[in-house]
Amino acid sequence: MHQQLLDQLGTGRLLLIHDRASAPACGMDADDHEDGGHRSSSKSEGRWGGNSAHWSQEKKLESRHPKLRPLVQGVLKGLSTRGFQPIIFYGWRSVEVQRKKQREGKSHVTFSFHNVTNQDGTPCSYAADIVDQRWNWEPPAQKNGYWAALGAEAKANNLYWGGTWHHPDRAHVQLVPNERLKHLRRACGY
Ligand SMILES: [Zn+2]
Repeated sequence: MHQQLLDQLGTGRLLLIHDRASAPACGMDADDHEDGGHRSSSKSEGRWGGNSAHWSQEKKLESRHPKLRPLVQGVLKGLSTRGFQPIIFYGWRSVEVQRKKQREGKSHVTFSFHNVTNQDGTPCSYAADIVDQRWNWEPPAQKNGYWAALGAEAKANNLYWGGTWHHPDRAHVQLVPNERLKHLRRACGY
């Protein structure tokens, strides 16, 4: 296992984890199916403003609940070991972006685990969307076994995976079960 990791380090497959500076800021630019057109908003200024889909991998990591960070790193490492090229598409996102996704039929909730903030309003996402940068949500991800691998790695890292839900959300992993959402939503004032 260790040797395998070293071998893969040699081929650069683990580059995304160990050298985030070299990673693309986002896996999707022209084809940003998540929230295209939502570049910046007068309501979201400052350090945590702008399009959170386009934040660096580092910033996406920082926008997550401290307990979620090492678990997602575990998932990324596990997927890389299997030969995939995982990237975090979304860590945190604003309620405004969430509502837009819901209106577009890309989400079934107006407040999600991605929208959680600390008391002072700084992002504290309980979820991450992890895709293979070669395929994003396109059919090759399924054909190449990426979603199944993500589900297995989520389970191995004690995360909840959205791929088994009634409305499957295959790129999605979260820290706590769905029944916790109501409480977090209230705590965030929504
Ligand atoms: Zn998600």
